[in-house]
Amino acid sequence: MEKGLVCSKNNFYTLLRNSVYCGKIFIPAYKDEDDIHVIGKHEPIITESLFYEVQDILNGRKRKLRLKNTRKNELPLRGFLECPQCGGTLTGSASKGNGGLYYYYHCMKGCKERAKADIVNGRFINALATISANESVIDTYYEIMDDMFRSNSQFKVNALRKIHDDIGKNKERLNNAMKLRLDGEIDAQEYRGIKQEYEPALERLERQKLQISLMDADYKKYLDYDFVMLKSLHKGYEKADTEEKQQIISVIFPEKLVFENNAFRTKKINGVIETICRKIEDNGTNRKGLALKFQRQSHKVSPNDQISNQIYDDLRDLYVLKGIIKI
Ligand SMILES: [Zn+2]
Repeated sequence: MEKGLVCSKNNFYTLLRNSVYCGKIFIPAYKDEDDIHVIGKHEPIITESLFYEVQDILNGRKRKLRLKNTRKNELPLRGFLECPQCGGTLTGSASKGNGGLYYYYHCMKGCKERAKADIVNGRFINALATISANESVIDTYYEIMDDMFRSNSQFKVNALRKIHDDIGKNKERLNNAMKLRLDGEIDAQEYRGIKQEYEPALERLERQKLQISLMDADYKKYLDYDFVMLKSLHKGYEKADTEEKQQIISVIFPEKLVFENNAFRTKKINGVIETICRKIEDNGTNRKGLALKFQRQSHKVSPNDQISNQIYDDLRDLYVLKGIIKI
């Protein structure tokens, strides 16, 4: 009889989802709090970056698997462009003319939208180059982020101290209530009432403690790669093969791009890059060359902001490019 690991597709999926495999323990979302990962005490089985890569694929953030069989070097943006006329997804193909092959991104099902692939591809590289070229903006932003994380560490120490005290107080209250109950000073109903008040509070404090301990464990690593990488973003993109290009695109643009009037616009862009683009816009430099417009998101970054999970996610997403864009 054949021996081996019995692993149904569903089990495998759960296994991949289980962050214990990269040394972190997953704490599922609880009430209005987000789910979090905390660093476990065991040795990781896979690296953290591989873990997040797998998560991204499972979450559908990477589109590379879907595009596997239809990848064409002349059409790196195929699958990432939304039709400005009908909102459908543009495809792409070659047509013969003038003794050569000409590539186009175009719409389907009777929609007439069509754009020359080399122009769209070129404008895309221009957009990336404009970001890379603004080194001083990138450097300044690095400093701000570094400061934020640094002051966050102080915030962290204070917050943990406060939480620790609160946990102690709540435990004492529960203990006292139990003594009162045992001595017959309060009845069962009163005791239940006290427990119902303090137990959830205690649970909430323990979760906050975990959440805060997790914060900014890797921030320096992310900052040091991401902000250097951004300065050579367009070069890295140009050197990459088509599959890697598409990974870069999906990290930077989690939602589709619309190419219209010689510029790109998008609903969602990686928050770090969005902040840099906004700064470039505000500076009024290269306004024309930016070729990238985006609907403003609600979150803003300033030195006084507390580090949000979103910023942390954005930094980590860019760090995934470490295997593609070398610094
Ligand atoms: Zn269309």
